[in-house]
Amino acid sequence: QKKAKPIDFNAVINEAYSLFKNEKGGKNADYIPFLDKVNSDMYGIVIVTKEGQVYQVGENKFEFGIESIEKVFTLCMAMEIYGDSVILDKIGANQTGLPFNSVPAIELDGKRPSNPLVNAGAMATTSLLTSHFGHAEAWDKVNAYFAKFAGRNLTVLDELYKSEAATNAHNQAIAMLLKSYGYMYDDPLYACDFYTKQCSYGVNTRDLGIMAGTLANGGVNPVTKERLIKEKYVPKVLAIMGTTGLYETTGEWMFKVGLPSKSGVGGGIISVVPGRYAIAVFSPPLDKAGNSVRAQMAIQYISDKLDANIYSDK
Ligand code: GLU
Repeated sequence: QKKAKPIDFNAVINEAYSLFKNEKGGKNADYIPFLDKVNSDMYGIVIVTKEGQVYQVGENKFEFGIESIEKVFTLCMAMEIYGDSVILDKIGANQTGLPFNSVPAIELDGKRPSNPLVNAGAMATTSLLTSHFGHAEAWDKVNAYFAKFAGRNLTVLDELYKSEAATNAHNQAIAMLLKSYGYMYDDPLYACDFYTKQCSYGVNTRDLGIMAGTLANGGVNPVTKERLIKEKYVPKVLAIMGTTGLYETTGEWMFKVGLPSKSGVGGGIISVVPGRYAIAVFSPPLDKAGNSVRAQMAIQYISDKLDANIYSDK
């Protein structure tokens, strides 16, 4: 158990901001045409504490695509509905060591979706939600749940959704493959489209901070104080983030930083310091695996400064 020390969050995020502001590494995701056009200079950092204090610097108004970060909250919702056993029974919880949209990964893990944070597993998890609610109600239910995490209604960025839906043949193929192996729990193309829409939610850095802050606060939104996921499920969500949250480079990330995290190709990364606070950083240029370059640098800096590594008791 870490000792609570007084922390000057403002000073630390301002340092991290200015240190990496001029970083030029990485490039925007270009396999989704809309993401390629987003201004690469944007950069924002937010910390949300368990008590609900919000510290921010840089870009925190611009709405970017949540992309893969949505997978964390879809996972939360599936556990709330079905219990945690559904993850081991119907999805899996192992790292693939392969890119997020890898087809061979499905074949390797006993022809399973692998885990809820890669595309295959996320679409399978989404299909659990859509089959539970039925097509008429599913979007409203999922939308309401996501809104509670952010503390405000989130809207789908229509241009992003159209851009992604027009170019997601690969994900459609994965969904069909899973269906053939018995790991799709609703119509595969419907689930793929629903998932694409979830990935197209517009969020700002602050939204992500509050969403992740809910996981830092044992499942209770630290700002609205509403419980969104049972406390006993939170460590399981964090375990999956710690295993596979930064795609195939998660092992290196945990070695360097030691924080359960999730990135998205829109340029966001969330990191959770359990029982204390969450960090959200946004900056579009990505490394080869799909993780924001500046966000990784900023979070590593903050984590080192604040002794946040979950494997250390400093
Ligand atoms: N919607 C994106 C895809 O399915 C999400 C990728 C990501 O952020 O990892 O390709």
